[in-house]
Amino acid sequence: MVDSDRMRELLHAEDSETRRLIAALSSDIKDLSAAREGDNSDDEHDPEGATLAFERSQADTLLRQSEERLSAIAQALQRLDDGSFGICTNCGKPIPEVRLEIRPYAPTCVACAS
Ligand SMILES: [Zn+2]
Repeated sequence: MVDSDRMRELLHAEDSETRRLIAALSSDIKDLSAAREGDNSDDEHDPEGATLAFERSQADTLLRQSEERLSAIAQALQRLDDGSFGICTNCGKPIPEVRLEIRPYAPTCVACAS
């Protein structure tokens, strides 16, 4: 039996953490874009330009993952409300509590996630 109060708590903590990360990443990306625009040198032959582009693409990836997590968290909270939380959305078996402790927003059991 899943402790839904505790799961709700974990999800809310994860939610604010993820929102903080998204805010930080968004401002990083803005800074990186500004740094690139202010750079008049030839991109192709400028190692700094390449580094900025690399950092920018890493930040973009992280941002996308964080946004996906945020929506997974919202869906998990929804499942807490409708009583389907802790049930694998793919095979319908219970998700082990140890998994939910680590990833309270996981929609599937380990077998279905892989
Ligand atoms: Zn499953």
